[in-house]
Amino acid sequence: MISDQESNWQHSVVSEVTFRGRHFYVKRDDLLRPFPGNKARKIEGLLQRDWRRIERLVSHGGAQSNAMLALARLAAHKGIGFDYHTRKLPGWLRQNPTGNLQSALAFGMRLIESDTGQPPSAEPRTLFVPQGIAMPEAETGVARLAREIRQFADAQGLSAMTVFLPSGTGTTALYLQKHLDFVVATTPCVGNAAYLRRQLSVLEPDPARHPVIYEAPFKHVFGKPDRASFAIWQALQNETGITFDLVYDPPGWRVLLSSPLTPPILYIHCGGVEGVASQLARYRRLFGQSLCR
Ligand SMILES: *Cc1c(COP(=O)(O)O)cnc(C)c1O
Repeated sequence: MISDQESNWQHSVVSEVTFRGRHFYVKRDDLLRPFPGNKARKIEGLLQRDWRRIERLVSHGGAQSNAMLALARLAAHKGIGFDYHTRKLPGWLRQNPTGNLQSALAFGMRLIESDTGQPPSAEPRTLFVPQGIAMPEAETGVARLAREIRQFADAQGLSAMTVFLPSGTGTTALYLQKHLDFVVATTPCVGNAAYLRRQLSVLEPDPARHPVIYEAPFKHVFGKPDRASFAIWQALQNETGITFDLVYDPPGWRVLLSSPLTPPILYIHCGGVEGVASQLARYRRLFGQSLCR
């Protein structure tokens, strides 16, 4: 169950792992309760707003988005409608929704497909949530994540630490940097560094307050299965025992390992594990059964 009360959100734990011979702390937001992932962090502020005049949430984005699933949960919890706009689905997915799409529809989400995937302009009594929940309300929950990290560092006696996480909209990295005096470093998983900087500037015009951005030294298309991503995902699973997400974490870890960053490093596991089964199915369709156990 989702709760609106701050006291009902629990701290996520930190794991210590060795990967490719190097030491990392991993902040386990994949295990965050009452529900997992950085999208849970991002909707905490929305939960606390005044809902009396809102009858419907409206948002848009990809058909397997983690933000979509979090908003579907939020709308079901508030007992309001949720219209989600996306581009035309492939026929097999429309006939047989899987993964996050299946779960979000089960929460009562109304899916609206169109050529552009864009929502209509503002309507009364609706709350529009930008793609990826890239909005000022996301700051509340991310500020709490920053406090948890600060407490962890204090308890470990760490006076300096680098915090690393992969970015989509960059909202999580941006607000973490705002609320932490440690260096926050990230990499763009959607588009390049220039695109990420533009996204960050919408919420924070001063570039001096942005996180540090490392661009991938390899080619990567958002959400598209590739063998290097699968290899590092599986190596992470084998060496650390942790299941990571298959969209953001493989480029995230590849960039982190190739970066000049030195320990102590805290990697933020931003969740997304609910989407792994449907991603693995895509990998199998593309690369064959032999790729995946
Ligand atoms: C959304 C998401 C991100 C990126 O978060 P932003 O705040 O949009 O940068 C990273 N990892 C996972 C698993 C996500 O779901």
